[in-house]
Amino acid sequence: MKKQAELYAGKAKTVYTTDDPDKLILHFRNDTSAFDGEKVARLERKGMVNNVFNAFIMQKLEAAGIPTHFIERISDEESVVKRLDMLPIECVVRNISAGSLCKRLGVEEGRDLEPPIFEFFLKNDELHDPMINDYHIITFRWATEQEIARMKELTFQVNTVLKQLFADAGLLLVDYKLEFGRFGGELVLGDEFTPDGCRLWDAETRRKLDKDRFRQGLGGVVEAYEEVAHRLGIELPD
Ligand code: ADP
Ligand code: UDP
Repeated sequence: MKKQAELYAGKAKTVYTTDDPDKLILHFRNDTSAFDGEKVARLERKGMVNNVFNAFIMQKLEAAGIPTHFIERISDEESVVKRLDMLPIECVVRNISAGSLCKRLGVEEGRDLEPPIFEFFLKNDELHDPMINDYHIITFRWATEQEIARMKELTFQVNTVLKQLFADAGLLLVDYKLEFGRFGGELVLGDEFTPDGCRLWDAETRRKLDKDRFRQGLGGVVEAYEEVAHRLGIELPD
């Protein structure tokens, strides 16, 4: 399989077409951004760490019966995935209050959320990813009612699998964002699952080990991602 043209350069990954129309190559770059691209930086090793991390998580999810786009990791910073027709929607599940939820509702950070909260956001940087609900999605034809139900079902299945996986490593899965796309007739988990798109806290000390270290200028961003990988037993290249 050969890498061909650059299809899309996002804030953290570049997407390439290949000679197989059903496959793309995702290049995880060292770039990071927050606040809709307002704060940016290059972080050594981040692309590699996220690529290896994502491969590990996607394989765990696939093994648990969740359909993902992941095919294989082909280099330190690149993976082959199924080409999906992405829905312009972000699915967020929250187990503990943090981030935009706290700002929006005036809730203090760190409250256990039982049952967990599910939220949809429109993927649109210019509009700052506004929160939307099922009615917006159906009326504006961003997805069907059946797809909405499936996104919720799969996103909660991911929660069951990953909450336990991280708990076994002494970590709390605070919240996370997933993106889905169509492949043939089915919805498939796309994009990535890395500490860039979730919140992970040390279970004992509640130390932040995710992108909030970058957002909040706490330092040690990639070191924290590597610590999470290490605790999960993921082997990272030197
Ligand atoms: P952003 O677009 O938010 O800046 P990235 O830098 O991570 O994010 O860019 C990756 C882009 O690739 C995202 O827009 C994502 O929706 C898209 N994408 C991820 N997986 C797939 C896939 N399997 N097929 C098609 N597009 C994908
Ligand atoms: N998230 C993401 N991409 C986005 C928005 C959110 O990966 O464009 C993740 C974020 O890292 C967190 C969860 O989704 O794990 C919930 O994010 P929140 O709504 O709190 O927004 P934030 O304050 O992180 O922008």
